[in-house]
Amino acid sequence: MSKNLVIVESPTKAKTISKILGDDFRVVSSMGHIIDLPAKKLGVDVEDKFKPTYVVIPGKKKILAQLKKEAKGKENIYIATDPDREGEAIGWQIKEKLFKGKNVLRVSFHEITPHAVAEAFKNAREFDRHMIEAQVGRRVLDRMVGYFLSPLLWKKIARGLSAGRVQSVGLRLIAERERQIQKFTASEYWEISAELFKPKVSGESNFCAKLEKIENQKAEIKRNQDAQSICDQLKDKEFKVLEIKKTEKKRYPPAPFITSTMQQEAFNKLRFNASKTMLIAQQLYEGIDIGEDNPVGLITYMRTDSPNVAAEAILEVREHIGRSFGKDFLPEKPNVFKAKKSAQEAHEAIRPSYICRSPESLKDFLNHDQIRLYELIYNRFLASQMKPAEFLATSVDILADKYLFVANGSHLLFEGFLAAYNKIQTEEKEEEEDEDKEKAKNVVPPLEQGELLGLKALNPSQHFTKPPPRFSDSSLIKALEEEGIGRPSTYAPIIYTIILRDYVRRIRGYLNPTELGFKVNDLLVEYFPKIIDVKFTALIEEKLDEVAEGTLSHVKILEDFYLPFKESLDFAQANIVKEVVTTDQLCDKCGKPLIVKWGRRGKFLSCSAFPECKNSKSITSGVKCGIENCGGELIERRSKRGFFYGCSNFPKCTFTSRDLPEDKE
Ligand SMILES: [Zn+2]
Ligand SMILES: [Zn+2]
Repeated sequence: MSKNLVIVESPTKAKTISKILGDDFRVVSSMGHIIDLPAKKLGVDVEDKFKPTYVVIPGKKKILAQLKKEAKGKENIYIATDPDREGEAIGWQIKEKLFKGKNVLRVSFHEITPHAVAEAFKNAREFDRHMIEAQVGRRVLDRMVGYFLSPLLWKKIARGLSAGRVQSVGLRLIAERERQIQKFTASEYWEISAELFKPKVSGESNFCAKLEKIENQKAEIKRNQDAQSICDQLKDKEFKVLEIKKTEKKRYPPAPFITSTMQQEAFNKLRFNASKTMLIAQQLYEGIDIGEDNPVGLITYMRTDSPNVAAEAILEVREHIGRSFGKDFLPEKPNVFKAKKSAQEAHEAIRPSYICRSPESLKDFLNHDQIRLYELIYNRFLASQMKPAEFLATSVDILADKYLFVANGSHLLFEGFLAAYNKIQTEEKEEEEDEDKEKAKNVVPPLEQGELLGLKALNPSQHFTKPPPRFSDSSLIKALEEEGIGRPSTYAPIIYTIILRDYVRRIRGYLNPTELGFKVNDLLVEYFPKIIDVKFTALIEEKLDEVAEGTLSHVKILEDFYLPFKESLDFAQANIVKEVVTTDQLCDKCGKPLIVKWGRRGKFLSCSAFPECKNSKSITSGVKCGIENCGGELIERRSKRGFFYGCSNFPKCTFTSRDLPEDKE
């Protein structure tokens, strides 16, 4: 029998670690959280230092008993939950609940490799009290906000709604952006480009130049007729090269992934939403069967805000680059990337655990999504340790009468890191990249100052100013990170939660607030402006970081938070009244007007004489049910698993759909 017990939180991870540790260690899984705040009570004593009361999660008693049994007769108990605050807290709760007073040690590693695991066991330690406190502080804050705010939403809008602390700030950003879009009025403008060529050269020498200035003023053309009249004036003018500017530009490789950048790139390049990215990354981290010795952890831990890379991994990747791409692609010294102030230095960037395991070599063992994310992580890591790409940018000023045209071209001199990172096709390009590509397409021939050019065509084009774009998973995470809201463990859950509650819908990749989302947001902004203030939320995140470092007590944060929060709460409780939305429809039973009500499952029409008249009606989308001959219409519904369309003939017809069929006729 093995002398040692190791507890982790997932069965796959247990299997991967067990293979590494061998027969002396018995590795078991807690199957996720087993202890948490109670589901139906506050579970926090606001009178006594905000002490939380933890309970065993229903259904987890059996696992608890199993763990206890496993521990019998073991000399050492180790807890190897994930290497972050949440992992530290889960581990500590297991220790407190099951092994109080016993010698239980914490081991943590950022990748599940023989080397990292061995090192971790060599450095087995006591639990980090500060990390645990930071996690408790976050959990208690979130619990208080959710527990006290939700009933106010029920009072004003509908039963069953809920609001979270950081999610509400995410919702606020999305709702505010939508209002900017609604208010936006597009204005028309025109651009003129000239297709030019070298008259004395045979063969293709066509290139494009754009009208930039008129009489030294920025060209601003508002209407078609103005564009036409400029073209008419230009037709027989001389186009003369005024100045040629050539500059060498370097594009530096990006840092290896941290959680936020991985989520952004996986959305931009693979169209994965943030939750999907995290799910797949977790599979790659915990271990995958790859034939010979199963399973194997393929990447480092996926929740991190540090771009640091272990020294051994740097050595390996440099050797690999030298071998696969050539010495020219290898910088003299390793590239170093700076972490943000708040980043936890002990963490590492997300990178492949074994650089020798190329994406190609794993193609037979990983599924399509796994291989695509692995490839992205792998190539990004390679790129991060390669030389910059070098371009020669050419900008030519061309004068025709009072009109100044500029031709931009760009020529790749040295591929550098692009040799590794450009392989993956981008589905949605960033604006900057777009511009670069346009320049690269425009081949400006060798020109001389004073040279006269031939005019092939003038192309006026109509444009409209655009409203700010809706947020995508990628741009929302970027915004949250820039504002200092959220942490590696929270970006994906923020988006997931507001979609689950149907405050936001993801339509063709973009986040659209719903009517319900606007209502919830407006209530929170009106009564709790501070709680969902962007700067305030960022400040709390910073303070939680201080708790984790041991320079601040979590009780202090909670005290500072609770008093003003309680004041807003009392005011809201006294002043919030149910909102009544009238309609011009009349009740077909009693003739009184119908009003719009929100229920647990969505919006519906109710008789205003309720409870005397209990008549109610669904609000249909007008779109026919997908089942032939059903005759029902689709109705918006909400459930615990999010938003969907259901049939008006429910329960007779159980047709459901995530989106409305396109054909509305
Ligand atoms: Zn009625
Ligand atoms: Zn139906």
